[in-house]
Amino acid sequence: MRTPILAANWKMNLSRREAKNLVEDLLKAAYPVSGREVVLCPSFHLLTEVGAALQGRANYFLAAQNVYWKESGAYTGELSPAMLRDCGCTHVIIGHSERRAYFHETDKDCHSKVEAAMQNNLVPILCVGESLEQREADKTREVVLAQLQGALKGQSLSSGDRLVIAYEPIWAIGTGKTDTPEGAEQTISVLRQEVATMFGERIAQQVRLLYGGSVKADNIDSLMACTNIDGALVGGASLKADGFARIVNYQAQASLAN
Ligand code: PEP
Repeated sequence: MRTPILAANWKMNLSRREAKNLVEDLLKAAYPVSGREVVLCPSFHLLTEVGAALQGRANYFLAAQNVYWKESGAYTGELSPAMLRDCGCTHVIIGHSERRAYFHETDKDCHSKVEAAMQNNLVPILCVGESLEQREADKTREVVLAQLQGALKGQSLSSGDRLVIAYEPIWAIGTGKTDTPEGAEQTISVLRQEVATMFGERIAQQVRLLYGGSVKADNIDSLMACTNIDGALVGGASLKADGFARIVNYQAQASLAN
């Protein structure tokens, strides 16, 4: 049984005061939680304080939105995996489409980041996803598999719970358009099969695969009913405590078998 993950990607939003209020309101509405994990991914300046607010809160975890793969040195503006651990992070988002698009991150960069994260006991949340153009050209499968292989090839992974993969179609991010549960399930099961090919069936059954792209309170239940969807990476809807609390408290429905 894989424990579902509901992850909040706050992106470049929130002041310290706003973040404090959001965490307080979220914990009031969605704590305690059982049978699911919640991962908050604030921007760097909030990590320490959000981490402190989550201290002792079972099943809540802290993630950064990016990491550099070097241990230390003359890399102005970057943070190492050890620095993230020092702030209390247990997870880190790698290869988000915004980083790939605006900061030119490549699959090779993602590979180095995943490797460095894993070596430092951080769980990577590796993002993959196709653009609208690629989708319309029927290239979704090809694109996401190339991203997955590019970031994971040759990595050593002893347990699947040390890796999270988020399938985030770019056309669905921040647009209000969501993939259908059936469509997301189909791509996510292709990704799980590829993880099985790369790392074996046991690991593939442990890896959590999330869907991301305009997840909201009113579509989470149907997404979570899919066999291979183990949670969600949520952007916009994670910035409001009540909406994200509803996502965390999603109602398990009868499984939509694929
Ligand atoms: C994201 O940026 O990871 C994301 C899924 O954003 P949104 O939920 O706003 O589409």
